[in-house]
Formats: sequence, C-alpha cells, structure tokens
Amino acid sequence: MKPTDYHTHTPLCRHAEGSVREYVQAALQQGLAEYGVADHAPMPNEPFDDWRMLSSELPAYFDWIAEAECLARDTDLQIRCGLECDWVSGIESWIDHLHALRDWDYLIGSVHYLDNKWDFDNPLSMAFWNQTSVEEAWRRYWDLYLDMVRSRQFTIMGHADLIRKFGHRPSGDLKRYYIPVIEAMADAGSVLEINTAGWSKPCEEQYPSREFLSLACEAGIPLVINSDAHAPQDIGKDFERALTLAKETGFSHLARIKRGRIVLMPIDDTGSQDEPEQA
Ligand SMILES: [Zn+2]
Ligand SMILES: [Zn+2]
Repeated sequence: MKPTDYHTHTPLCRHAEGSVREYVQAALQQGLAEYGVADHAPMPNEPFDDWRMLSSELPAYFDWIAEAECLARDTDLQIRCGLECDWVSGIESWIDHLHALRDWDYLIGSVHYLDNKWDFDNPLSMAFWNQTSVEEAWRRYWDLYLDMVRSRQFTIMGHADLIRKFGHRPSGDLKRYYIPVIEAMADAGSVLEINTAGWSKPCEEQYPSREFLSLACEAGIPLVINSDAHAPQDIGKDFERALTLAKETGFSHLARIKRGRIVLMPIDDTGSQDEPEQA
C-alpha cells in the first residue's frame, strides 16, 4: 500500500530541521503517495511563542511547498499543503483569516495551550503541572478540544489526547472525555489522525489511545496516519505499526484529502489509486 503523511513540519517553526530536498527524498524513500506539509501556523499578537513561523514568514512557507512540488514533479509523489493551527479560546476569526490565505488542502486543528498560555506539551513548561490536578488539566483540555471540533474550521483533528504526552492520565473510565468529542467529530465530518510521534515521547503511546480509536471507528470517523515529523528521518515513521493498530481497532479504510475533499480508500489497497479524484 502507498501511505500518506499529512502532518509534517519545516524549520520555519524553529524546532524542526532538514531541507525541503531531504523531506521530499524521505517521502520518496518511504514510498508515500502524498507528502503533506502542515507547519505550526502563525498566531495573532506576535510574538506569541518561539515555536512557530511568523506571519511575515508565510511567503517562505509557500516557497517551501512550491519547491517540494518542483522536486516531486517527475515522480508519483503528490504534495499537499496545510497548516497545523493552534486552538485557543477566541481564535475563530484568526482561523478564518488563515483559511483565506490560499487554497489549502486541509487545516489541522491542535490544542497545545490551556488558558491561552500554558503549552502543556512543552518540556520547558512542566512546572505548570504542579499547579493543577491531572483531572482538571484533562477537563480543560477536552473542553477546548470539543470547542475546536464544533467550530468546523479544521479538516483534520490533531493528536487527540496530547494531554497525556508525559503520562498524566486521570483514573477511572476515560470515555467521559472521549465520547463527547467523538460524537462532535462524527457530527462535523472531521478526520482523525493516528499521530505516530507519541511512540517516541515519554508516554510511549501513539495519539490517540487505542480506546479512543475503537470508539471513533464505531462512530464512522475517517482516519489518516501521520508522523508529525520535525526531521526528514521521521517522515512515515512507525507507519506499519500504526496500520496494524488501525486494523486492530476496526478501521477498514484510510482517508485521502485534497482541497478539503475526503476520499476513503480500502486500508489494504491504498496504493491502487494515487489520485483521490472520484469524490
Ligand atoms: Zn512542533
Ligand atoms: Zn502539534
């Protein structure tokens, strides 16, 4: 099968490395059908933090995508362009602004911040965990995630349950957090990602959890497998393992996305047709 990788970064975000040539070569080596670039989007009120591109760097970002297209021209590799956008409360009009900047293939919505200021997945922000209970952090995370899904501003919902990156997880049945979000995703027609980066993080587990995946599958939510690569060697990383997990949790199809249109491909046969044109 030919996989796709829609969640990858560029050095413009200040914590990724590699050249566009190296990323395209890695995508070709991994036998990807599609290499999707979705770097951390600018935020209003700059500088917002030090791990994203500035608005003034968007032209350089578009150059990266154009160069990737150029490098892939004589190959079967398709280039997709998106952004990984941060969801914080009150951000809707900014997301509309980002949407209007070009004809994106997709925007990924991610929650990295609680209270618009605590980037809980940042190793440098660990002290904040001492100021809250795990239950409270989870509640606030999933409340924000739910608002993000309901906004319908994103095609792909990024690394659901990133809140357990460092292993923080409340006791009891976690379905109380998962089910409302999954119902909202089914309602909004969102695509879920298996984000393989979690396997290399302290939690040593993909995002989202196996239980979340099974429930999402039952709800009929389309799935993609993404690496969240911040270096060329991470493109397509652990995709075989993710594919096995997708099948084990019930998925029979994976989604392909182009210009916001979603097409489902049989999971065992995603290489038979490279262009999702039949939607
Ligand atoms: Zn990043
Ligand atoms: Zn992210």
